[in-house]
Amino acid sequence: MKFSKLELWHKIFIGLVAGFFTGILLGEKAVYIKPIGDVFINAIRMLIVPLVFTSLVAGMVSLKDSKKMGRISLKTIGFYLFTTMIAITIGLLFGIIMQPGAGVEISSLGEAAIAGTPPELVHIFTSLIPQNPIAALAEGNILQIIAFSIFLGIAINMAGSKGEKIGDMFIDFSNIMFKLTALIMEFAPYGVFALIAWVSGIYGLDVLLPLLKLIVAVYLACITHAIFTYGSILAINKIGVVNFFKEISTAQMIAFTTTSSAGTLPATITCARNLGASKTVSNFVLPLGATINMDGTAIYQGVCVLFIAQLIGFDLSMSHYITIILTSTLASIGTAGVPGAGLIMLTLVLSSVGLPIEYVAIIAGVDRILDMMRTTVNITGDATCALVVSKSENEFNPSVVK
Ligand code: ASP
Repeated sequence: MKFSKLELWHKIFIGLVAGFFTGILLGEKAVYIKPIGDVFINAIRMLIVPLVFTSLVAGMVSLKDSKKMGRISLKTIGFYLFTTMIAITIGLLFGIIMQPGAGVEISSLGEAAIAGTPPELVHIFTSLIPQNPIAALAEGNILQIIAFSIFLGIAINMAGSKGEKIGDMFIDFSNIMFKLTALIMEFAPYGVFALIAWVSGIYGLDVLLPLLKLIVAVYLACITHAIFTYGSILAINKIGVVNFFKEISTAQMIAFTTTSSAGTLPATITCARNLGASKTVSNFVLPLGATINMDGTAIYQGVCVLFIAQLIGFDLSMSHYITIILTSTLASIGTAGVPGAGLIMLTLVLSSVGLPIEYVAIIAGVDRILDMMRTTVNITGDATCALVVSKSENEFNPSVVK
């Protein structure tokens, strides 16, 4: 069978495996292939702002009913908080059982610099409303874009017949953006190939080995959460679990290689809609999820806090654990859907229980590898929510889009 005739997710998978081995063969020279991956990342980032803006306004325009909007928002936020709390608990359990920091020699670990400080949590809430929506669009501030789009959509509906033309324009524009997304996704196998070759080329065993237990703990906790938490939520809602994981794998592979929930958003929306999530629900739930729902990041924070506590022999009490669950939930909400953001927010969780934040530098050395998995789980959680909320609104229709 010809490569071009294969289904997209098969092509991406081939790109992933081929990229991995190419990276191992080329070693650090794989950096020369990276620009192909960068072009792909730029192309999907190019989609984010117009896609979120037009599809959310289009969603609001077709939704008209403000009570329904309120209901969908409540269900979404409830779902996100509930699954994030489960995620952080699973992360802590794996940290306790696997003891990733026990017996690790600090001197064997290289120093790595960390950049940036976490934003204050209250600032995240106060800056929700943009002072200047054009600036929010230009800067790609997703939360502000969401807020503005919701207001604009409500106003278009309130304007009645006078708002119809603009409303239709947004609907047409969002359809065009979906076509553009499909076009750029055709390039995904090559982008994924280049990015994974670069990662496997630069991370030699000597970097990975001392922290192997940490990496394995984060990966296992993430896989457990994806299979058991999302799997049971889907099964309870009578949504095919196997089919879900098959279809979402396209977005997962893109998340795994780009380490950006926001960057993966166009693919997540496409997969969720192919799975039967309604357009209105996906257009609201998924951009919001890519910005505030980070279950993989919460798991990672749980495991990493325990890793550092074990590394320096710091005993955690029950009240420490409760603090970790609360701050990790908030910190994961505050984490931006971009590469490496979770590492910066980890400092916030560490300081909430009085652990020294300098040790984050140790984790920074392998953060990309951890980010790959946590981002994959982050977008899987968003897609699960889109399906469950669609189903609860009687808008789940797996046979419509394909
Ligand atoms: N890279 C993650 C994401 O985009 C966030 C994180 O760093 O934890 O979902």
